[in-house]
Amino acid sequence: MSLQKFDRRLNGLQRLTGFRIRVINRIAGESGKVKLFKFVSTTCLILLLAIMNLLKFQADQIFTGKEMLTGNPVLVCSADGIVKDIVDKTEAGDDIQKLTGILAPGFINCHCHLELSHMKGLIPERTGLIDFVFCVVTQRHFPQEEILDAIAQAENEMIANGIVAVGDICNNLDTLIQKEQKNLWYYNFIEASGWLPGIAQQRFLRSKQYYEIYSEIFSASMAPHAPYSVSDELWQLITPFFKDKVATIHNQETAFEDELFSQNTGDFVRMYEMMKIDHSFYKPSGKTSLQTYFHKFQSAAQILLVHNTFTKEDDIKFIKKARGNNVSFCLCINANQYIEQSLPPVNLLREQGCTIVLGTDSLASNRSLSILDEIKTIRKNFPSVTLEETLKWATFSGAKALQMDDKLGSFEKGKQPGVILLESGLKDLKRLI
Ligand SMILES: [Zn+2]
Repeated sequence: MSLQKFDRRLNGLQRLTGFRIRVINRIAGESGKVKLFKFVSTTCLILLLAIMNLLKFQADQIFTGKEMLTGNPVLVCSADGIVKDIVDKTEAGDDIQKLTGILAPGFINCHCHLELSHMKGLIPERTGLIDFVFCVVTQRHFPQEEILDAIAQAENEMIANGIVAVGDICNNLDTLIQKEQKNLWYYNFIEASGWLPGIAQQRFLRSKQYYEIYSEIFSASMAPHAPYSVSDELWQLITPFFKDKVATIHNQETAFEDELFSQNTGDFVRMYEMMKIDHSFYKPSGKTSLQTYFHKFQSAAQILLVHNTFTKEDDIKFIKKARGNNVSFCLCINANQYIEQSLPPVNLLREQGCTIVLGTDSLASNRSLSILDEIKTIRKNFPSVTLEETLKWATFSGAKALQMDDKLGSFEKGKQPGVILLESGLKDLKRLI
């Protein structure tokens, strides 16, 4: 049905309801019952109109989540943001809001650690991953009130930055109270870690307890922290929890990761010594990290590999052979810059036709929780990447990676993806819905 037809039907409905009230008044006078009926009818009509109240946005361009539209398209949605249609201006009727910039669906932040928000600015930049991980493990303990305040502030920051959904790593229940307010959509990745085989059962039971609490309320799955921090014994315990879920892991964030798996040398051996972890049991696979563990994700519906800073062409070819689709590569470029001033292999991933999505990582390793800031850094360092590509990574691809594409990520009828306006030159963004 075109919008003009829709408007006509609405006007018809208004006329019909008004007519019925007038007829009843004439027949029965203003008796108590009729007054009540009139009141109820009028209230229903107002509610109906409020429900049908449409918002119409026209901008210089509309990015749908999949492609950039030019010409005179108008995005039409209900007051609460449910997409009704994208139509040409000539079919949109009256009350169109004309805006300057690009309209896009709300952003999806595929990788965050909301629970580390109180660590903003605490760890110096460019320490390298090994010392960064050591600082997080040893310095994360703060008074609970400060932790909860920082979590609330960080969520507000994401909302202001146009983010509508988050893939969030959880090692405790600190973020639960904030998430229960349902200001954002969350896919909760309950992290498990422990390099020593002897602590696998204890670590598994702790993570499983958190998983059961989160999964009662939200989308949730169990997540191994990183290949260098999860023993084979712990992998075995958590693998059954990947089935039909989104499985995620910090992947190849430093060159030392492949060195550990292929040769059992490098900076991770130093990290185990720093953390007083007995590493003598370990036998290297002789392969890269990714090629060592990837098959363990076989039963997952979606696989979300985070960072991939040192992923090579052979690894990507290996993945494509093992599993053609439903693997997403999450870039957290500002965190890579913060921790060790490295850049992810953006052009390699594009050339190999990989699905790319975006994440901010935590405030312990980033100055902001802003997908727009991630886009700006990518485009600054990789000028051949188009704006359209990055917007697709930040919207539709991200929603699919988190199994939220039924409601978020694109301007398709019936979805409620949020609406943001990107100012020209990507200087800023405004959240419209
Ligand atoms: Zn992370």
